[in-house]
Amino acid sequence: MFKDTDAPLVVVGGGVAGSCAAALLARQGIPVTLLEREEMPRHKVCGEYLSGESLSLLEVVGVARPVIERAGVWLDRVSFFSPSGRRASIELRPEQKALSIRRYDLDWILFENAAASGAQTRQGCRVTGHEATDSAVVLKLAAGEEIRASLVIAADGLRSRFAEAAAPQRSGQRLFGFKAYWGNLSLPASEIEMYFTPQGYGGFSPVDAETVNGTFLVSEGLVRSLGGQEEAIFAQGVLSNPVAAERIGPARRLSRWWSTGPIEYGMRRRFGPRVIPVGDALAVTEQFAGEGMGMAIKSALLLAALLRREPELLGDGEALRARYLTLYRRTFAWKMRLLGLLRCAMASREGAESVLAVLRWCPWLFQAFYSWSRSDYRRFSK
Ligand SMILES: Cc1cc2nc3c(=O)[nH]c(=O)nc-3n(C[C@H](O)[C@H](O)[C@H](O)COP(=O)(O)OP(=O)(O)OC[C@H]3O[C@@H](n4cnc5c(N)ncnc54)[C@H](O)[C@@H]3O)c2cc1C
Repeated sequence: MFKDTDAPLVVVGGGVAGSCAAALLARQGIPVTLLEREEMPRHKVCGEYLSGESLSLLEVVGVARPVIERAGVWLDRVSFFSPSGRRASIELRPEQKALSIRRYDLDWILFENAAASGAQTRQGCRVTGHEATDSAVVLKLAAGEEIRASLVIAADGLRSRFAEAAAPQRSGQRLFGFKAYWGNLSLPASEIEMYFTPQGYGGFSPVDAETVNGTFLVSEGLVRSLGGQEEAIFAQGVLSNPVAAERIGPARRLSRWWSTGPIEYGMRRRFGPRVIPVGDALAVTEQFAGEGMGMAIKSALLLAALLRREPELLGDGEALRARYLTLYRRTFAWKMRLLGLLRCAMASREGAESVLAVLRWCPWLFQAFYSWSRSDYRRFSK
């Protein structure tokens, strides 16, 4: 029998994937506890580009309306600039129109929705260790407390403590992410611009009438060689793109820098018994696609749909994980491969120039890549 400190199902991480999973499972009548290490709401390194497809998934989670009400700006154009400043651009179809919304707001809406859906939520509650016993996973919290869970949903993001790293990547392939908000930065009103450089890529997009999100990913080598100093990294890693340099001219930074990394791409390999990973804890894909949140939401939807169809899997963590990972691979493996190939092709100056020249002259191909890399929301829109 469970004690007071026990919980049948514990979700660790109250970001996009964890809060969506907690809400969906709680609504299915499963007792869920959601643990988040930060005090919510909190900021998060992210381009804050919520694709139209991700928004459709949030409809299924039941939060599309508050998200639209809180969101800053609708985006209907995506432009990529090559290292020399050549532009390839697509107009988004009406159903693809994206939202720019601060993660501070989005994640708080999702966290509150989990609580309103019946999950027991705890914030400021960091999991510092875990241990599998014959019948449970014992989670150790920073405050010295322990919780026994029969099943853990690992939703603790790209540095998940429950996952073994993806196929080891050389440090040259790993990136660090940086974000800051900017003012007085002239940008087309409803467009996200992405700039590629030999050191990485990143972009600006408006989050409200006065504020622009600037988020960048740069190579681990550059970050280490510059001692992690954000201004220098930004100058060398981003402003070598002439369009980025022109945009930033009169701009003023309004916030501190937030950073994250190193980022390992690909699917995580091994998890302990009774641990089911969702979102970035399971797989990280190229951020220039702007679909990480979509994949995180969809991973929660896949898990909830599986448990709705086969509730008996709740009692068998290993069978549940095997079935879920098969579904996940079927849904995402080829998209991740396609995006990985694109990233490799664009990792050098010449590669980025060539790929973007092709996309510039074949906008239909750009649109096709954009559509293929999205989460197929239609299966869940009923
Ligand atoms: C630089 C960058 C730019 C990006 N831009 C975009 C974009 O524009 N559009 C897009 O769709 N995606 C983007 N992404 C991807 C997107 O941010 C992620 O895919 C998404 O946040 C994954 O959600 P998640 O819930 O899995 O993880 P997260 O959102 O990272 O949430 C994990 C949560 O777990 C909590 N946590 C971690 N450890 C513990 C612990 N030990 N105990 C308790 N809680 C813990 C964290 O505090 C956090 O709240 C970007 C990513 C990066 C790095």
